[in-house]
Amino acid sequence: MISRPKGTNDLLPEDIWRWQKLELLIREECAKFNYQEIRTPIFEETGLFQRGLGEATDIVEKEMYTFNDKGGRSMTLRPEGTASVVRAYVENNLKGTGLPAKLYYLGPMFRYERPQAGRYRQFHQFGIECFGSSEPSLDAEVIMLAYGIYTKLGAKNVELKLNSIGCPNCRPNYLEKLKEALKENQESLCSNCRKRSLTNPLRVLDCKEKGCQATISALPRITDYLCTDCSDHYTEVKETLTLWNVDFVEDSRLVRGLDYYTKTVFEFSVENLGAQNAVGGGGRYDKLVEEIGGEPTPAVGFAMGIERTILAVGDAWQKEPDVDLYIVIIGDTKKEALLELIRARKQGLKAEMDHLNRSVKAQFKQANRLNAKYCLILGPDEIKQGKVKLKNMRDGEEIQLTLSDWLGGIK
Ligand code: ATP
Ligand code: MG
Repeated sequence: MISRPKGTNDLLPEDIWRWQKLELLIREECAKFNYQEIRTPIFEETGLFQRGLGEATDIVEKEMYTFNDKGGRSMTLRPEGTASVVRAYVENNLKGTGLPAKLYYLGPMFRYERPQAGRYRQFHQFGIECFGSSEPSLDAEVIMLAYGIYTKLGAKNVELKLNSIGCPNCRPNYLEKLKEALKENQESLCSNCRKRSLTNPLRVLDCKEKGCQATISALPRITDYLCTDCSDHYTEVKETLTLWNVDFVEDSRLVRGLDYYTKTVFEFSVENLGAQNAVGGGGRYDKLVEEIGGEPTPAVGFAMGIERTILAVGDAWQKEPDVDLYIVIIGDTKKEALLELIRARKQGLKAEMDHLNRSVKAQFKQANRLNAKYCLILGPDEIKQGKVKLKNMRDGEEIQLTLSDWLGGIK
């Protein structure tokens, strides 16, 4: 027997309703904010991610599923959505369809990681990308859309952290100060941070090692080094969020894992998820479109981890019944059952009947298993008189109705 690959999941009917419910909510919220869906390939040329995400990121350094296709081209299963959407935006000249271009995606992502709770090798993301404007109101709108979804999910204790990590004008200045401070503190940092001090110093701020925390909290803060443009932008993002009653906390250590962010960065986390508590995040990436070969185009986006978000919902949701109606066959009433089944479905009911010649008792058991709201009971004597029984499975009440209009008894 071959098992599924490590770090992947089978999504079974007993859980899939959660996915469908979340996806429906996502699509409704996107529509309200005028975001349109885009579907891009699941694999891309490896160079897209190398260039887009940055060579010194966790993803590019060690997490990509890269392979050569039969033509010898290096391909990679997409580890995230933004690079692909940017490529598609440029390649299909979506600028021509009017700016800002507001796009969303939903689908599987692949990262070669050590599997654990909330961390898989194939996982799913919902994300939005907004191209063509550097206005802070759009940063706030992206955050608001995400915030609205988390709020509506009923997930408890969702926290929104916010920061600005500056732009190519002010960040180099900060990075100099940061590198100096890191140089002085090498001994108190983990080996990963020591390496990062040289390759990607900003990422040191993101280290989760306990031993590094004291040093990290004493490092210079990026928000003290922002240029006027970035600092005004940040202020306006915060003002708009406040105007919309979005709760956030500022965190000058928040940097996020990818190289492409400029100005705004943010992350949503949930208390009860343990180590893997980040359920989504995003930020502004004003240089990425250019990086990937398009015209300079400001942009801002967000990505949500679907698995972790569903974990965060926990038991806040109740499953809808599988069927509204289960038809119970007594004696030789199968033909009538077949007719009433189709009539019920035509009326829009979710309806089922027995196909296994079960006993009456076993049919009721099956109806309960499916959480049926009603059972329509077809007995041979009653059918002869044009009568049926309708049992309300919630309160057990049974009423007799005529065969021709029993549907009127369904509430
Ligand atoms: P982490 O720090 O947990 O590795 P990340 O910074 O790599 O997260 P992003 O690239 O920002 O994550 O992806 C956005 C969201 O996708 C995350 O907040 C998380 O909810 C989800 N996610 C990322 N990697 C995985 C994974 N391997 N399995 C499940 N969900 C994931
Ligand atoms: Mg990661």
